[in-house]
Amino acid sequence: MSRKKFIAGNWKMYKTVSEAVAFAKDAKARTAGVSNVQIAIGAPFTDLLSLVQELKGSNIEVAAQNCHWEKEGAFTGEISVGMLKEIGVQHVIIAHSERRQYFGETNATANKKVKAVLAGGLGVILCAGETLAEREGGKTFDVVKDHVLGSLDGLTVEDLKNVVLAYEPVWAIGTGKVASPAQAQEVHAFIRGVLKEKFGADAANAMRIQYGGSVKPDNVKELMGMADIDGALVGGAALKPDSFEALVKF
Ligand code: PEP
Repeated sequence: MSRKKFIAGNWKMYKTVSEAVAFAKDAKARTAGVSNVQIAIGAPFTDLLSLVQELKGSNIEVAAQNCHWEKEGAFTGEISVGMLKEIGVQHVIIAHSERRQYFGETNATANKKVKAVLAGGLGVILCAGETLAEREGGKTFDVVKDHVLGSLDGLTVEDLKNVVLAYEPVWAIGTGKVASPAQAQEVHAFIRGVLKEKFGADAANAMRIQYGGSVKPDNVKELMGMADIDGALVGGAALKPDSFEALVKF
């Protein structure tokens, strides 16, 4: 089964609109002509409309980093899928570990968000991953399985076509400590096995699973060479156009 690699940047809470547009102008020229890899940038809400406009006609897609599950309502400070869709956002990153750690994201809220994003016709990038304590406590597989199955609860095989998973060990995010290709591959293969059990072999084999956690131009190639690693979700190294270019041209 050949799965198109998917490299997505996650800017977190970095870049004003002018900074985002300057990045987009530079990055779209650098990545023009790349057709064997899907490319996206996950940006702060305030950047999204300008990014969509600047990147129109390029091969860089735009992702939000969160959303609310309701269509509208009295939810001060929240953003709905419909609001993202209308401005041309194509994907939503759901349940990033920073959302779990600082903003109370759970499998239950992630599941509601995943369903809302899919109902709105956008793509989901769903994150899962263990903390250092969980890894050292031998709980990696249990935690990852719980994140994946809990967040995908109630989905159909058809729904999964618009879902990409991102395995992001929390101990490797923003720390410079990348999981070794073998460590990452072990968990990716495990996740694919979990998906196979729940959704069947065809759906599991078609699902793309990104790795995230200190991916850089100098380690991306080796990671992308592993059998079950289908792309990357990248924070720090996706903030500069030259580094972003190196990632997508691994
Ligand atoms: C992330 O933000 O999802 C991430 C993996 O960050 P970094 O690449 O900086 O570790």
